[in-house]
Amino acid sequence: MSIKDNLEKVKSSFSNPDCTLVAVSKTKPLEDLKEAYESGIRDFGENKVQELQWKQPEMPEDVKWHMIGHLQRNKVKYIAPYVYLIHGVDSVRLLNEINKQGAKIGRKIPVLLQMHIAAEETKFGFSEEEVEAFLQEATEESYASVEIKGLMGMATNTDDQAQVRKEFKGLKSFFDSLQSKKHPLLSTMNELSMGMSGDYQIAQEEGSTMVRIGSSIFGARNYPTQN
Ligand SMILES: *Cc1c(COP(=O)(O)O)cnc(C)c1O
Repeated sequence: MSIKDNLEKVKSSFSNPDCTLVAVSKTKPLEDLKEAYESGIRDFGENKVQELQWKQPEMPEDVKWHMIGHLQRNKVKYIAPYVYLIHGVDSVRLLNEINKQGAKIGRKIPVLLQMHIAAEETKFGFSEEEVEAFLQEATEESYASVEIKGLMGMATNTDDQAQVRKEFKGLKSFFDSLQSKKHPLLSTMNELSMGMSGDYQIAQEEGSTMVRIGSSIFGARNYPTQN
């Protein structure tokens, strides 16, 4: 099947047609990205700064680049000018660095806070308590160069659908509770990034507004990646 066919198949299986599809193109060659672009995709997800850096100038200007992986603080400056949304903000220190780089270039950088919802130890992210504690201290003025657009989470890598659903449900419920707080830093929060190739249908049923799909579009990756 071609990338175009895969995309049609994925989209036709969406239970929420308004959910944004981020095509995760990590490890894939430019020709694959171009094929997806020609099929109408504008949102692309990458998880390595170096790879984003070489792909970005090779693709049309209207591509929206999503940084979905773990981001090191010393690399924020490279993507700060053009990144459309940083999904993996998993610590206050990283958020501070993004805010600093945004201020330097006069840009309010859109981010999602990554929540740790999986049973695995290895997945990065905030706990609910950490986010609550952060919000108690944080003011709009001190974070003038970031825009918190919402939350991101990755469910446990398991065949147990009930567990995956439970984790997404929990994330959605925390998302709703944050929205109802009306914290000034969260006034632009409307995105919930959850769901990948193996679990995007469950994620949509549980309220996802953005799914990050790689292998169901581009096929299996040529080599394994960290996250
Ligand atoms: C690789 C990756 C995806 C896409 O995974 P697939 O299973 O290929 O759809 C989604 N989110 C993150 C954070 C990733 O690193």
